[in-house]
Amino acid sequence: MNTISSPHLEFRQNELLAELRPLLPEEALLWEPEDTIPYECDGLAAYRQRPMAVALPQTEDQVIQILKICHQLKVPVVPRGAGTGLSGGAMPIQNGLVLSLAKFKKILEINPLARTATVQPGVRNLAISEAVAQHGLYYAPDPSSQIACTIGGNVSENSGGVHCLKYGLTIHNVLRIRAILITGEVVEFGGLAPDSPGLDLFSVFIGSEGMLAVVTEVTVKLVPKPALAKVIMASFDDIEKGGNAVADIIAAGIIPAGLEMMDQPATVAVESFVHAGYDLNAATILLCESDGTPEEVAEEIEKMSAVLQKSGATRLQVSESEAERLRFWSGRKNAFPAAGRVSPDYYCMDGTIPRRKIAELLKRIKAMEAKYQLGCMNVFHAGDGNMHPLILFNGADHQEWLRAEAFGSDILETCVELGGTITGEHGVGIEKINSMCVQFGEKERAMFWGIKESFDPGRLLNPDKAIPTLNRCADYGAMRISNGILPHPELERF
Ligand SMILES: Cc1cc2nc3c(=O)[nH]c(=O)nc-3n(C[C@H](O)[C@H](O)[C@H](O)COP(=O)(O)OP(=O)(O)OC[C@H]3O[C@@H](n4cnc5c(N)ncnc54)[C@H](O)[C@@H]3O)c2cc1C
Repeated sequence: MNTISSPHLEFRQNELLAELRPLLPEEALLWEPEDTIPYECDGLAAYRQRPMAVALPQTEDQVIQILKICHQLKVPVVPRGAGTGLSGGAMPIQNGLVLSLAKFKKILEINPLARTATVQPGVRNLAISEAVAQHGLYYAPDPSSQIACTIGGNVSENSGGVHCLKYGLTIHNVLRIRAILITGEVVEFGGLAPDSPGLDLFSVFIGSEGMLAVVTEVTVKLVPKPALAKVIMASFDDIEKGGNAVADIIAAGIIPAGLEMMDQPATVAVESFVHAGYDLNAATILLCESDGTPEEVAEEIEKMSAVLQKSGATRLQVSESEAERLRFWSGRKNAFPAAGRVSPDYYCMDGTIPRRKIAELLKRIKAMEAKYQLGCMNVFHAGDGNMHPLILFNGADHQEWLRAEAFGSDILETCVELGGTITGEHGVGIEKINSMCVQFGEKERAMFWGIKESFDPGRLLNPDKAIPTLNRCADYGAMRISNGILPHPELERF
């Protein structure tokens, strides 16, 4: 239920507000329904919950004090950046506090010689590139949500984007993180030197979905802007040929600066929205970018064109100007909003599979459309094998939503069956928590809990996200009877 309904919750809310009021200005502490409703979900709007309160601190010391109070009162805390996450990671908890980092918007230092920038967590991804453009540099990971999403969210989700195939994910482009534990202690991971001693907590922390500590400062790597970039739009009359072409490009030893795929339902939806100039007759298109010096680009475009033709492309169009290149990409970057124009709701999945299996998964998704009687658009980071099927449904019809949910789980489990994983870049959050029971065994999940508890023994930071409990997996039915033996018979099955 989505209200502060019980006397117990009201008591807890008053207790929390009494502690937080002396710490924060009036406008930085929200608790009235009309003020907290905007925080009730992230980009996964199908799941909603209003929190007890929302705090919007502006200084690191305020974050420390807030966390100490929540630790003392045993109040769960959900850190939040821009709320663009697609797996419910920033969705509030009913008896919890949302800790928004939206006011942490300062770029603290730009060092063009070292090619680094140190920023606060609420700085938008694109704002970093905008701020360093004057030095001929940019921050490479570019989620399609980059105009809005924050670096704190990117670190917590290990976000990817079009350029991550060549330049790496967030983890490959961040050097140092400063964060606050639930107890209020300050911790730092990584560093400015290329390597650091000890166990690699930096890698553990990146992608930890707000469950280990609250990020307050991030130092990122910057890369020089390439002299030239061009993109090929390749058309295929068959989705299987398009899928196989992706693997053929990589097998030919080419690492494009971007390698994205969109099927026909996606190009048709996008075209009427942003007029990207896509080939609407194609069953699928591939966007293959090359960047570097003019000579490097010319050579790579020639090589990629040859591979694409051999793979069965029916048409190749190379961008002839920077404006045309940006137009091709604007279609890809606006594919999610375009889905919102053609369907009342869409459910974005995020599985990853070996590139050679792309064609097979696309065929199986087609069959699932008939099984669940719902349409699906496919638009994805093909080079990384990171699929984003967008299931189209009407959320006002509960039966449709249940079918969409089952369709989504079916896709993710098919990804695992094909040798892939249940997430690529959007995280697990609440959305894929059941699928974690399928991907990981009991031992592995116990290790995840061990790590979580070494940072946060009371399980207060973003609880009930990302790592399923044994009970949840039992509930999901993943602990199936094997050889007549039901594992953990002592656990209640719901
Ligand atoms: C249209 C659209 C396109 C997208 N395209 C991509 C894409 O191409 N690639 C991609 O990877 N993702 C994509 N996303 C998903 C989303 O934008 C990313 O996951 C992004 O990194 C989330 O950032 P945020 O600031 O909105 O974080 P939020 O959604 O606010 O939070 C995400 C998670 O990070 C945690 N968190 C946030 N800030 C902090 C902090 N300071 N300290 C600790 N934990 C924190 C939250 O608790 C939550 O678990 C897309 C989303 C949309 C809506």
